[in-house]
Amino acid sequence: MTEFGFIEQLAARFVALPANGFEGIGDDCAVLPVGNGEALLFTTDLLTEGVHFLRAATSARELGGKSLAVNLSDVAAMGGRPVATLLSLSLPADTTDAWATEFMEGYREMSERFGVTLAGGDTTRSTAGIVINVTAIGRADATHIKRRSDARAGDTIFVTGELGASGAGLNDILAGRYDTPAAAIHRNPQPHVAEGLWLGARPEVHAMMDLSDGLASDVRHILERSRCGAIIDVERIPAAEGADVQLAACGGEDYKLLFTADAATSEKLANDFLEKFGAPLYPVGTITADTELVWRQNRRPVERDWKGFVHY
Ligand code: ADP
Ligand code: MG
Repeated sequence: MTEFGFIEQLAARFVALPANGFEGIGDDCAVLPVGNGEALLFTTDLLTEGVHFLRAATSARELGGKSLAVNLSDVAAMGGRPVATLLSLSLPADTTDAWATEFMEGYREMSERFGVTLAGGDTTRSTAGIVINVTAIGRADATHIKRRSDARAGDTIFVTGELGASGAGLNDILAGRYDTPAAAIHRNPQPHVAEGLWLGARPEVHAMMDLSDGLASDVRHILERSRCGAIIDVERIPAAEGADVQLAACGGEDYKLLFTADAATSEKLANDFLEKFGAPLYPVGTITADTELVWRQNRRPVERDWKGFVHY
């Protein structure tokens, strides 16, 4: 069973149960409207030693920051503001006090940067490797929430930064090169929290999500949930230094935002974004009315057997 097959079958078992006001499985966060035009957002991510990180290839401080950053990215992906987290840790007996202290510092630094408090968690011993589970809670104006399901035919597809640096860094790490700039980027993702909030407030932005598994895989989630297709222009995919276009499309863990916006006003949106953040938005394609994902180069369709990134 694949990860997504498992999630689908699990979700199917719950369709007959009361949802208690929640919009649940299938987006970057679950949404709970709480009145006064506000909603709470919930998301959780698990990092397992040997699957998501190698203990020897990352500092505890970086790991503390990353375990929080990947969750903040999911709140940003909905257009929300992260406010609190829960941190659960399962640590083997050979974890040193110095490691634990550094981990806490990394987690605290990232929390401070984004004004997020630690509201709880759980701590246990592990008989295998380190396991880290973070739950992030966010708040959003209900009308600002961006879902994967709201893309419309004709929308311009954007990403909020260059792609592939994290994938290049992972390749370096797997080859034993821990000290490269790309490897550092892989270990220190910077979630686009301010960008997500800003895009959330723009009504011309329709669907949004964060890029954790790679554009080639993640864009399909928007297409499936919005029941539409897309044309992506390969030459417009912004490849980061050290990444070719395939790695930019297929590498994971860039934690940039992927969104669609009304084409009529998308130039103004990009100009406003540049003015606000001093960084460009990258248009990479267009949403279509069918359900195909078409890669195009020099305006001609090209075959690309590109899949996203899967752990292990
Ligand atoms: P993301 O990459 O944004 O963190 P995932 O691909 O991990 O999202 O998950 C996709 C969707 O499936 C999310 O809505 C998530 O909450 C849900 N999901 C994943 N695993 C489980 C699970 N074990 N039980 C319930 N829902 C799950
Ligand atoms: Mg996500």
